[in-house]
Amino acid sequence: MMRAEVRERLESASRKHSRGQFEPNHRNAKTVVHVDMDAFFAAIEERDNPSLRGKPVVVGGPKGSRGVITTANYIARSYGLHAGMSVTMADRLCPDAIHVSTKGGKYTWVSLELMEILRQFSPEVEPYSIDEAFLNATGCIHLYGSLKAYGEAIKRAVKRNLNLTASVGIGPSKVVAKIGSGLNKPDGLTIIESHEVASRLGPLPIKKIPGVGPATEKLLNALDIHTVQQLVDAPRSLLQMKLGKYGNDLALKMAGATGVDDVAIERHVEDKSKGHEHTFHADVHDKTRIHSQLLAQCERVCRRMRRDNYLGRRVTLKLRTHDFTTHSHQRVLKDWTDDPVEIYSVVRSLLDDVWREEDGIAVRLVGVSVAGLIRPGEPHGVQDDIFQIKRRTIRNDLFNAVDSLRDRFGENAVGLAAGFPTRRPAHSHIHS
Ligand SMILES: [Mg+2]
Repeated sequence: MMRAEVRERLESASRKHSRGQFEPNHRNAKTVVHVDMDAFFAAIEERDNPSLRGKPVVVGGPKGSRGVITTANYIARSYGLHAGMSVTMADRLCPDAIHVSTKGGKYTWVSLELMEILRQFSPEVEPYSIDEAFLNATGCIHLYGSLKAYGEAIKRAVKRNLNLTASVGIGPSKVVAKIGSGLNKPDGLTIIESHEVASRLGPLPIKKIPGVGPATEKLLNALDIHTVQQLVDAPRSLLQMKLGKYGNDLALKMAGATGVDDVAIERHVEDKSKGHEHTFHADVHDKTRIHSQLLAQCERVCRRMRRDNYLGRRVTLKLRTHDFTTHSHQRVLKDWTDDPVEIYSVVRSLLDDVWREEDGIAVRLVGVSVAGLIRPGEPHGVQDDIFQIKRRTIRNDLFNAVDSLRDRFGENAVGLAAGFPTRRPAHSHIHS
């Protein structure tokens, strides 16, 4: 298989996920398995180079460089090293760590092999990242006799074929399975059945919920919400007020997962968002090009928000590097907006957090999305101050004029100046 084809397959799989396909709708009849490889890149390096075994190993930027590490093996983790840490910091904490350069192509191949193995266990396998996948195991378990036997068979097959270990979580929903796979790493198998979801997940800290990063954790902690149970029990109006729709959705999702809220179990709560992604024709190192692409995306996203009369608050930057590492960082704005300039300034600073031109890591895909959408006029717990309303009106007139030009002459007719150089339709796709 050609490398491009491999990438395309991985990408189309991850697109499928972001659109929320996969979840069957019938009630309480689901078994979901989440498979997560242990210290994936580092484990592959150790496997292929026995001299690394038993030593702290990190994959990523050479020693003394300004890069970040993409993976640390478990020995390196015991020194406090972790993915995303700067090489400088890693050198300080563990000067003896052996640095191995990232070999994206090799990891992609192993990832494809992994997905092939998993397809022997379920007709529905959804690659979630390079080293993670969800399996819809509903209807497959009886072939193995028990959840435990099924989980063990998957782990054995991975070990036998790839000589690598995986941690497996099994539960009644994706979120439960994913949390489960993280509970007994490495080489773990965690089974959480419907009736034990509340007791096993409830006491966990909220940072165990997939997607809850340090910023959300801080916001929730400030509300004295520290555990999953406290989140589920929190007044929805409070969550809505402090975190917007996102807070509410998070509580709904967890309530559904813990089986406390019967209605929510079945409701596949889809977080409304507007987004745009772009895969570059060739991997890009140049920040200026990335900036102009991001600005163009912010414009598109905001245009679609204006068209559908939405304002949004939670801005996410997605960035995928050449080795298929995907970063997704978000920030919640103080106020709702549909202003591309405002959103772009947030996206730029998010980019500065996750990617530096100097590190020489090429970028393959960038995406911008805005979530936490409301329609102006709907109650959302904030008071517009008069100046903001005024500014919005002036800008709106401008944007409406721009929109009507684009309606008549096409997307490229007019745009914010910095957005022009990368305005290219190929490989772009939108979701709404
Ligand atoms: Mg992993």
